[in-house]
Parts: sequence; C-alpha cells; structure tokens
Amino acid sequence: MTSSFSNLSLAEPLARAVAEMGYETMTPIQAQAIPVVLTGKDVMGAAQTGTGKTAAFSLPLLQRMLKHENSSTSPARHPVRALVLLPTRELADQVAQQIKLYAKYTNLRSAVVFGGMDMKPQTLELKKGVEVLVATPGRLLDHIEAKNAVLNQVEYVVLDEADRMLDIGFLPDLQRILSYLPKQRTTLLFSATFSPEIKRLAGSYLQDPVTIEVARPNETASTVEQRFYSVSDDDKRRALKQIVRQRGITQAFVFVNSKLGCARLARSLEREGMKTTALHGDKSQDERLKALEAFKKGEVDLLVATDVAARGLDIKDVPAVFNFDIPFNAEDYVHRIGRTGRAGASGLAVSFVGGSNDARLVADIEKLIKKKIEIEAVEFEEDRPRGRINDGRRAWREAGEVGDPRDVLDAPRESREPREPRAPRPLRPAAAPRDPFFDQPYQASANDAAPSWEATAKSPASRSISANIKPKRKVAALFKAL
Ligand code: AMP
Repeated sequence: MTSSFSNLSLAEPLARAVAEMGYETMTPIQAQAIPVVLTGKDVMGAAQTGTGKTAAFSLPLLQRMLKHENSSTSPARHPVRALVLLPTRELADQVAQQIKLYAKYTNLRSAVVFGGMDMKPQTLELKKGVEVLVATPGRLLDHIEAKNAVLNQVEYVVLDEADRMLDIGFLPDLQRILSYLPKQRTTLLFSATFSPEIKRLAGSYLQDPVTIEVARPNETASTVEQRFYSVSDDDKRRALKQIVRQRGITQAFVFVNSKLGCARLARSLEREGMKTTALHGDKSQDERLKALEAFKKGEVDLLVATDVAARGLDIKDVPAVFNFDIPFNAEDYVHRIGRTGRAGASGLAVSFVGGSNDARLVADIEKLIKKKIEIEAVEFEEDRPRGRINDGRRAWREAGEVGDPRDVLDAPRESREPREPRAPRPLRPAAAPRDPFFDQPYQASANDAAPSWEATAKSPASRSISANIKPKRKVAALFKAL
C-alpha cells in the first residue's frame, strides 16, 4: 500500500487543497481508512485526534460527494449529505475548519453548529444549504427541532470521538439524531478505544464495518521527562509555581479534573501574578476561543484545562504539562502529556499525587505506559533549613550580584551565570483582594469529570499494582534533579 497522496487518485480540487496544505505522505490512519471509505463501507476506526483522522474520513467523503456536486445557488440543491458529530465545541470548530480547507476548491458547502453561540447566524447558514454539517449533538437537536436542519438526505455520518461522546452522556442525543437519518447510509465511527459500550454502539448503528486500528499511543514519548510528586491539595499551587520558576518554564498546560477546580485554579494563579487562562465547558464559546488564541499567541503562560475541553486541540509543543489532578482515566494521562516533547523536542510532564484515590490512578497509568513510576516529595524553598539559604546568599554575594538570593537556588543551572543586576523581588506577590470563593484552597471535585474511573477501580490487576507503589519520600530529590 502506497502512502503518498499523489498515488491516491484524488479528484483535482481535493488534490490541490491537500498539496496546498503541504501534505505529502499519508499518516497510518489515512493510508488505511481512505481506500476503505472510498468504497462506501462502514468503518470502525481506533484513532486519536492528532493522527490525521479528520483527513482520513473527510477526503474520501468529499471525493464521493463530488460525484453529485452542485454549483447551483439554490438551498434545495445543497441538502445535508454528510453529518460529522463531535463531543465538544472546540473539536467541532477545529474539524469544520479543516473540512473547509479540504473542500476549498469544490462547490461543496460546509458549516458548523455548536452550543454556546447564538442560534441565528447558524440558522442563516443552514438555510442557505450545506452539504457537510459538523455539529455537537445538543445544538444539532435544537436545530432539528427548529426545523433548521433537515437530515433526511444524509448519506454519510461520522461519529467522531465516540468514546468521549458516550463519556459525556450524549448517547440519548445520538440515538435521537441517528433516528432522523436514512437507514441507507455509510457510517464511520472513530474512538480512542473500543470499549464494550463503543462496540454496542457500533453493533446498533454500523453495518458490517471494517475495523481499522492504528497504533494506540499508550506509550509516552521518550523525550518527555515524567515526574510524579506527592503534594497535598493545599500545596499544589505552591509546588506548581516553584517548579515553573525553577525550570524556567515559559508555557504550560495545567490539567484538572473538574470545571469548578479549573475556574478556581486559573483565578487564583492569575491573582498570584501568573498569566493564566481557563478552558472548560462552562465558559462561553467566545471566551474559550479567545483563551485558546491567547495561549497560541503566547500572551498567556498557563492554560488550565479539563480533559473534555482540551481533548484533541491542535496545540502542540508546549514545553511542560502539569497534571494538577491525576486523571481518572489512564489514557487521558497519555493524551495530556502527549502535548509536550513532540517531534523530538524535550518536554516535562509533572503530576501531583495528592488525594486518597491517586495511588490507584497512578497504578493504572503505570500499567498503561509500562513504566515504573517513582513518587517524589517536593521540597519547598520556604521550608528549607536556614543554612542552605545562607549558603545561597553567600554564593550570590560572591558572584557579585544584587537581588534576591533565593534566585541562586531557584534558577535552572544555565541561568545561574552572572546576569544584569535587578531590583529585589518581593518574597511573595502583593496580596490580591480577597475573594471568599476563589481564595479557598483548591479542592478537586469530580463534577464534570468523565466518571470512567469507576471502571478502572474495579480492575483487580490495577489493585495489585497499586499495592506495590510506595510513595517514595526523597527529600531534596527535586533539587538533585534540577
Ligand atoms: P487531526 O488528527 O485530523 O486533527 O490532524 C492533526 C494535524 O495533522 C492537523 O493539523 C492536520 O492538518 C495535520 N495533518 C493531517 N494529515 C496530515 C498529513 N498527511 N501530513 C501532514 N500533516 C497532516
């Protein structure tokens, strides 16, 4: 099987768009899925976002749809022929943008509808007629009920990130949407895992599907340095700030398990002087897109996110990822830290092991990544014995510097070289006005987390591994390593 796009006999408008995007060779999911989807068969694909999955399904669908391409401007001549369903607004937006690029030189129209935005502009677009509709389930149902979207001519449906849609609880919505579609159609289902629930969904809605699996990224990149620190919930913020400073980290993703925790943490880090923004499901669509843009442009240093909000976002090469909370699902750990250390660059993944359930979750991660995890203690600089600080102060003076002696101990090795004198830094950032809600110590809450940990907790294998994990207290281990 060739893996070059030029041997795929794509229609000229699609080939042109692909060439313009700089794609030359197909990714493994594309090499496997495109020829199958071109035949019109149903597909059950195990692939994550980031593998080139969007092109894997949209290019062959567009190619098939081109056979009945219509240049007429009449809305009636542009019925919805392909429906792509995704769990989150960001993913829907991202996939829709990619499809627009692939379809750029065709007469096929595409649109995206998701919640959190005014219905009216979406309605206007739908009324003009679109062949490819990308949507999140809830908002699509609103449009179906308002008779803005008519789905009786759909030929292709893609259930993308199907595992996540089930995790979020979209099954009833999916069932309702699928009931509006013609029985005669091609159905493609993509999921990170083939859990029993996914298999049941596929059994109900796919006909004789071809199963395609690309290597599951359950191995973490060797370029990512993975550190696990035992930290109480109250000390996590302090630990995060210290590590950011010590490592000279310029940008990082900070993952939390709940929407509430996400908002609180972002607010308190912001108050403590770190340029932070939050990405979670309760933010308006506009706020979320703005947060992403600011992070991409480098205007924001820390992006605090939940898994649902961050899943599949096309942000790569972040220098560091913090697991402020250990994810409930070990595979989310792999997704989270996959955002750093890409393409050979070195990355840092720091996980805070705090709550009583965490040992079991760490055991699940250990099992998945097939690596022994050592849990270290964090030594906080303010807790360090005086002698060490004095030593630092002496070293600082000997280097002829002025300023904060703690920088000698804090800074990464390379930045301990003499530098420009600067004003002493206050020991702590100026006290921010108190906010009785957000000033509370961070408490993890499982409000919006995907409750998949119950399944993991039942695994006897994970229990036996967790029994082997003894949090290893290494005083000053952190500094030895830095
Ligand atoms: P996806 O998994 O579809 O979200 O794609 C992830 C990223 O890979 C997107 O930025 C795509 O533009 C890019 N991409 C997809 N296929 C290819 C390819 N064959 N060659 C290079 N980049 C690709």
